[in-house]
Amino acid sequence: MTKYIFVTGGVVSSLGKGLTSGAIGALLESHGLKVCLQKFDPYINVDPGTMSPYQHGEVYVTHDGAETDLDLGHYERFTHAELNKHCNYTTGKIYNNVIRRERHGDYLGQTVQVVPHITDEIKDCIQRLAGKEIDVVISEIGGTVGDIESLPFLEAIRQFGHDKGRENVLYVHLTLLPYLRASGEIKTKPTQHSVGTLREIGIIPDVLICRTEKEIGPDVRRKIALFCNVRQEAVFEEKDVDLSIYEVPLILRKQGLDALILDHFQFDPGPGDMDQWINMIEALRNPSAEVEIAVAGKYIELSDSYKSIYEAFTHAGVANRARVRLRKIQAEDLSNGDLDAALGGVHGILVPGGFGERGLLGKIRAAGYARTKRIPFFGICYGMHAAVIEFARNVLDLRDASSTEVSKDTSAPVITLLDEQFQVTDKGGTMRLGAYPCDLLPGSQAAKAYGTARVEERHRHRYEFNNKYRRQFEEGGMIFSGLSPDQRLVEIIEVKDHPWFVACQFHPEFRSRPVEAHPLFRDFVRASLARRTQAPAPA
Ligand code: GLN
Repeated sequence: MTKYIFVTGGVVSSLGKGLTSGAIGALLESHGLKVCLQKFDPYINVDPGTMSPYQHGEVYVTHDGAETDLDLGHYERFTHAELNKHCNYTTGKIYNNVIRRERHGDYLGQTVQVVPHITDEIKDCIQRLAGKEIDVVISEIGGTVGDIESLPFLEAIRQFGHDKGRENVLYVHLTLLPYLRASGEIKTKPTQHSVGTLREIGIIPDVLICRTEKEIGPDVRRKIALFCNVRQEAVFEEKDVDLSIYEVPLILRKQGLDALILDHFQFDPGPGDMDQWINMIEALRNPSAEVEIAVAGKYIELSDSYKSIYEAFTHAGVANRARVRLRKIQAEDLSNGDLDAALGGVHGILVPGGFGERGLLGKIRAAGYARTKRIPFFGICYGMHAAVIEFARNVLDLRDASSTEVSKDTSAPVITLLDEQFQVTDKGGTMRLGAYPCDLLPGSQAAKAYGTARVEERHRHRYEFNNKYRRQFEEGGMIFSGLSPDQRLVEIIEVKDHPWFVACQFHPEFRSRPVEAHPLFRDFVRASLARRTQAPAPA
């Protein structure tokens, strides 16, 4: 029978509930259990797909094509769970489902209410992930306890514990212990209040995980346990990590969180093995080389906007035993002026995905700089579009070449709308989304990286390479090294006679794992390391 863990957060937002949920998943998997993870977001948007990266950070795409919260990225990176569209529900999506059924007449004249109809829908969403093959479902409740908008979710998980029996449900509450420098003290009061608020709702947490910048001693632990009514051994410290977020599972394991959870659910699955994870941390701690890679993006000021890309670089660093230093550059700043000043000395250049006019010229120029200076280049989605436009303008001499996304009446539309997109008017959930197969050209950089003939990668776009130009590009020295199996869509391009110039239509960053770096990121970093050896950066 499936067991359930609910993760709530108190005191402040951004405590890292997503990371902690992922870390719990990693711990349970290390004992051979099968987990699935899920996030509830209390906002009204049906999904984050239409939200600005400044509001929401990265939109994470699942294999089955759901546009989701970036915490799902943590879940997939920390575990082997393959998440799907049932793994992220917002208030908007829950209400949408209920209202659709109401309009259909499914409630047979009843008054439709938050309790029980919305809470029942939330409970169904949790239950949907359970199954014979899943030992534990971990559901994270977004937002902070005490928020008005989280209430229906908290009420639903309270009821869920009542329905399933407390021995089958575990409530984990993540809180902050602020440190007051002036008095040199760790304060527990906000945590007491937060747990008090949870108790008012009827939820008694089984486990408290306390975020703190200072170590907490036995006295603080005892005090928290007493005032919050949890066992002392159920109070865990999650101190700020100095090396990497991937240390979190090991920190919690050292304090016995996995043992406590296994005991609560009366699981008896043996000692647990985290050797691979420990080796990965060792590799992170002891790199034998360093490489500097430029990332030229539109939302560069906000690290959450390119979360999965930055994580993929960490993984690729581990795979190459190298530290990857990132030079984050606002693409717009590359629109004019001397590129040497901004990009000089880097060993690799990555242009990530994006939308719209702003920054596109800078991305195009960055791709041109990498091509002509023979610097390893990796383009992702809009980054591929930028590389194609640059090649058209400067190699094929199609001076007016562009994407119809930004220039409706260009005389050389080398990037155009996908056929299926012409009828689309709604913005939400209507891009080409999720995993599609891609066949690789034998001998290409892509085929070498993957070591296989067919791959599946996740997409999120409306525009594509315009096939009318394929011959012309090939004659000019571009290689189409990845195509959809029907050959109709260009998925990967490369530039001939270049040390490593690869750009893909899909988002490889969503499939990279700390213990299994994505092959393209791994080889891009490897090529950048080779560049460093050949052309050391000026001192
Ligand atoms: N704006 C481009 C498109 O819609 C690229 C999207 C992306 O980079 N994710 O096709």
